[in-house]
Amino acid sequence: MKKSVVSKEYTNLQKEIIKLQEQWKQVLNPDVIQPKLDQAALASGVPAAALTAIDFDIPLFIQWIDEINRLIVKKNPELEGKLGKVRELLNEEVAIRWIDEAFAVNQFYFQQFAQEHELEGWMAPFLAETALRPYLQLVAEKLQPEITHAVHGAGCPVCGEPVRLAQLEENGKKVVHCPRCLVQWPEKRVVCSHCGNEDSKTIQFISVEGDATSQLQVCDQCHGYLKVIDTRQFISKPSSAILDLNSIHLDFIAQDNGYGAATDQNTAN
Ligand SMILES: [Zn+2]
Ligand SMILES: [Zn+2]
Repeated sequence: MKKSVVSKEYTNLQKEIIKLQEQWKQVLNPDVIQPKLDQAALASGVPAAALTAIDFDIPLFIQWIDEINRLIVKKNPELEGKLGKVRELLNEEVAIRWIDEAFAVNQFYFQQFAQEHELEGWMAPFLAETALRPYLQLVAEKLQPEITHAVHGAGCPVCGEPVRLAQLEENGKKVVHCPRCLVQWPEKRVVCSHCGNEDSKTIQFISVEGDATSQLQVCDQCHGYLKVIDTRQFISKPSSAILDLNSIHLDFIAQDNGYGAATDQNTAN
């Protein structure tokens, strides 16, 4: 599921998955998350989720994967056999391993897993990442009051996802939002989140034709980009996961112009 093959069907499926994740998060007991906020680790760019003790409910994790599979098969009946095969492999031991490897964004493990069991490469990491997110979002919710900034270049301070989305909020304040764990933090208007460049000569804002609320901020020092969405006029504000999905055309424009969002660690997108 690369961005280059994004279709309306894919976007709609993603929206339904985001809805499911919101429901799943509601059933989690917040006590399963025991964050240990280590300021020194945060300052060196270690994502806080990596230091957090999470008591995963493995049968529930597997149940969520069954729900995702049902949703995918409803829309893509031809995938039933292949997803069924993945499901047969998914016992509790494998689920624990998936959680660990999705947490660490270990693409190598999932490639090996797919090869070994002759699966399509996207399946296992996509399912694992999708069912992991409600936990990451709960970690973010707990830590949000402490998250006031990020180390440039280290990605999201909670989950490590590369930065790619910001919103202009009241008084034009720029707030970076993580579409993966949904944490947010304020950022200077003219600074590159990837390399910390503050030189207005090498940071450009590109407007997008036919889209008055969006801009691309690009940095000519590190070739990183950030989608900046002015949500002040929005009647209802969508979650940053939806905002990220709805602004995928901006990722294409940025990438077509030679910019990237740091390393694309997240195979699920
Ligand atoms: Zn995050
Ligand atoms: Zn930069």
